[in-house]
Amino acid sequence: MTQLRISGGAVYDPANGVDGDVCDVCIADGRIVASLPDGAPRLDARGMVVMPGGIDIHAHIASSSVNQGRRLLPEEHTVDPAPAPALVEGEARSGTGGTIPSTFTTGYRYAGLGYTTVFDAAVAAAGARDTHAQLDDTPVIDAGFFVLMGNDAYLLRQIAAGERDRARDYAAWLLGATGAYAIKVVNPGGVEGWKRNVRQVQSLDDPAPANGVTPRAILETLADAAHVLRLPHPVHIHCNNLGLPGNVATTLESMRALAGRPAHFTHLQFHAYAGGKGKAWASGATQIAEYVNAHPEVTGDVGQVMFGDATTVTADGAVEYLLHASSGRKWVNVDVELETGCGVVPYTYRDRAAVASLQWVVGLELFLLSADPWRMVLSTDHPNGGTFMSYPELIRLLMDRTWRDERLKGINQKLLAGSALADGLAREYTLGEIAIITRAGPARQLGLARKGHLGVGADADVTIYSRNANIAEMFATPRYVLKDGVLVVEEGQLRRAPAGRRLHVRPGYDAAVTRDLERWFDRYGTVSFANYPVAGVRDAAVEAPAISR
Ligand SMILES: [Zn+2]
Repeated sequence: MTQLRISGGAVYDPANGVDGDVCDVCIADGRIVASLPDGAPRLDARGMVVMPGGIDIHAHIASSSVNQGRRLLPEEHTVDPAPAPALVEGEARSGTGGTIPSTFTTGYRYAGLGYTTVFDAAVAAAGARDTHAQLDDTPVIDAGFFVLMGNDAYLLRQIAAGERDRARDYAAWLLGATGAYAIKVVNPGGVEGWKRNVRQVQSLDDPAPANGVTPRAILETLADAAHVLRLPHPVHIHCNNLGLPGNVATTLESMRALAGRPAHFTHLQFHAYAGGKGKAWASGATQIAEYVNAHPEVTGDVGQVMFGDATTVTADGAVEYLLHASSGRKWVNVDVELETGCGVVPYTYRDRAAVASLQWVVGLELFLLSADPWRMVLSTDHPNGGTFMSYPELIRLLMDRTWRDERLKGINQKLLAGSALADGLAREYTLGEIAIITRAGPARQLGLARKGHLGVGADADVTIYSRNANIAEMFATPRYVLKDGVLVVEEGQLRRAPAGRRLHVRPGYDAAVTRDLERWFDRYGTVSFANYPVAGVRDAAVEAPAISR
């Protein structure tokens, strides 16, 4: 039996109401336990900060789109080689970094930041096998993914025919067949429309050209499916009109369309712009924060933009075409059969640029105006708004107003008139609140009962930081990181890199849908129905209860 007592640290465990209290955290066989015998091995954490391992609710690390991005950007590989770390146990691999690190390097770097659970937020069903293979090569972190459904031809056909129960059965089947964790919607109906030359969705009631299905119907069907199937995470929504001025109206309309239903709205920064149609861009963050504050069924993550290099990777093919056209940067587009789209464009957010500066401000406003940190958690939509390696700098911006105001003075002011941040926001996040937006909050939103806290029975994923007046330095280099009770980072160095677990669901469905799907695959699929499901998705299935009929 492997035991460890982490003793004397200031523990931040908001799910259990612990806010900087000095107490011991006891670990036995990979889990948190109430106590250990006096002679148990001890890790001296006196003077240090102890938190659960970090949880990334929305990143792009292992999809076929991410691989497209790796292929598109060889120049990143040469400037950021990642030699194999000097592990004390097990084999290590070299790789490359940049905005889209290679698989092993992704696992090593997340672990080096104290993150132990990560979700890839957009996987095309046809690419699920590839994603599992990539995740098998991404060590340390427990991982899962969200499967794209918002522009899926079979799903849209069921909605068009008024067969919402069958649409739900399909969603349940697809989650299990791909080994996914949650339902993802990207630009509902808009990607399918864009493939047919419809430039953008004007309202939630626009009928799609091929089948008359509206974005509203797609949102309702999939939000209800996630709810009825009792999935651990509600429908995960990337709204229509990402990145366009004036899109705050679309975002609020989408939230109202699902009022009363649990729903997660992702990278809200990219969906919170006022202005448009002859008016200058402006921040719409106040409107979004006010809506979220008043509606406890809504959760979100921010999708903060950080200055520097990024790579935009999304199923929203339409957006990527516009970004390529406006930036002149290179671009790849992929049509994923009948399921979804994909686009990749590298991008640099410059603090001298007006729009990038506005985006930076909008994200920070969402953080600072959101009343409930449990429901507005940290993300940069890695690598879209910035990479996960920029999280420590983002945490500093949230905790250190002096630093934030100094940065604010140095950016392009052109579009900042009337913004709440420019008018002065005094709020500074506490360490307890940081523990919420990077650990406890994502765990609650994702329905992960054993993650994001340090109570008895939790996975022993623990991050220990040395205190440092420079918050960014403190969060960039944890002193110790434990994964399932194993010390993976010691004295700031990665020492072990065990395999992580896969998190996925397998909800029940009416088997009649599979007979219909066989006919669908025979007519339209390039893969046969029998070969489509991913076999042997390993361990840690989070079983959603079978639905009662
Ligand atoms: Zn994303």
